[in-house]
Amino acid sequence: MTNGFTLVIHGGAGVLPSDTMTDEKAAGYHAALDRVLAAGEAILAADGSALDAVEAAVCALEDEPLFNAGRGAVFTREGTHEMDAAIMEGRDRRAGAVAGIFGPRNPIRSARAVMERTDHVLMIGEGALDVARQAELPFEEADYFFTQERWDSLTATLKMERSGALDDDPSRRHGTVGAVARDRSGALAAATSTGGMTAKRAGRVGDSPVIGAGTLADNRSCAISATGDGEVFLRLSVAHEIDARIRLTGETLDQAAARVVGEDLTALGGSGGLVAVGADGSFATPFNCEGMYRGWSVEDGPRETRIY
Ligand code: ASP
Repeated sequence: MTNGFTLVIHGGAGVLPSDTMTDEKAAGYHAALDRVLAAGEAILAADGSALDAVEAAVCALEDEPLFNAGRGAVFTREGTHEMDAAIMEGRDRRAGAVAGIFGPRNPIRSARAVMERTDHVLMIGEGALDVARQAELPFEEADYFFTQERWDSLTATLKMERSGALDDDPSRRHGTVGAVARDRSGALAAATSTGGMTAKRAGRVGDSPVIGAGTLADNRSCAISATGDGEVFLRLSVAHEIDARIRLTGETLDQAAARVVGEDLTALGGSGGLVAVGADGSFATPFNCEGMYRGWSVEDGPRETRIY
């Protein structure tokens, strides 16, 4: 058990296939992940809370158009944006989440507003937007969230569907952002935000805003933020499964995370991964696909970022 902080982030399991990744593009992803780590690290290094650090890291990821959340979110099949986000702290398992929302610049801040300003955990529709308005969070119009790359992914995906081709390009299918942290006091927190899956139906909600599926934090065990085929993560209650294995079977974070991602997820044909931090500050970043944009910062260590 260390007294230092740990911060681990991800920019989704929807990485560009390595044969289409250029050095220039890779450098852009590494630089963006490094900026995000710096934002969260600054809070933890000043004795800030894990909750504030994961919120700051996810806001930075949402503001970065390279990733599928906030600015740069993918499109539904109607060409609209519907965003999901959740945040949770491990001390008392307080949580807030929003699903299918459009408008707030940073959906993760809307999730935190649900946690702190209401008696509820998960909100949708006008009610969720009202909470964001009451919290005076900034809103944006559609052009802020638009990126040509996501639009091209939508049209390519719809075209492939019409031609009956199977879309197995993860960079089109996946994407989400998230952060988990342990602060110097030993508290854990997790935050996840996503535009969901490209060409999803209107009204579809994935695993990210569902506590125990794509997001979870419990100081006794771990904090988790997931990315991948949301339907399979929901069916497996991935985050809760790892938390329960640690608390009830005595498995380490590494063992539990490797088992759930490497075996359970794979057995159901699901693709993706997650970032997790344990009560002792250890961390894991398992995935069963080609890559996952990710990075970590451990007290007194260098910031590190990876793609494949
Ligand atoms: N898990 C997200 C969702 O299903 C998407 C992703 O991470 O690729 O909405």
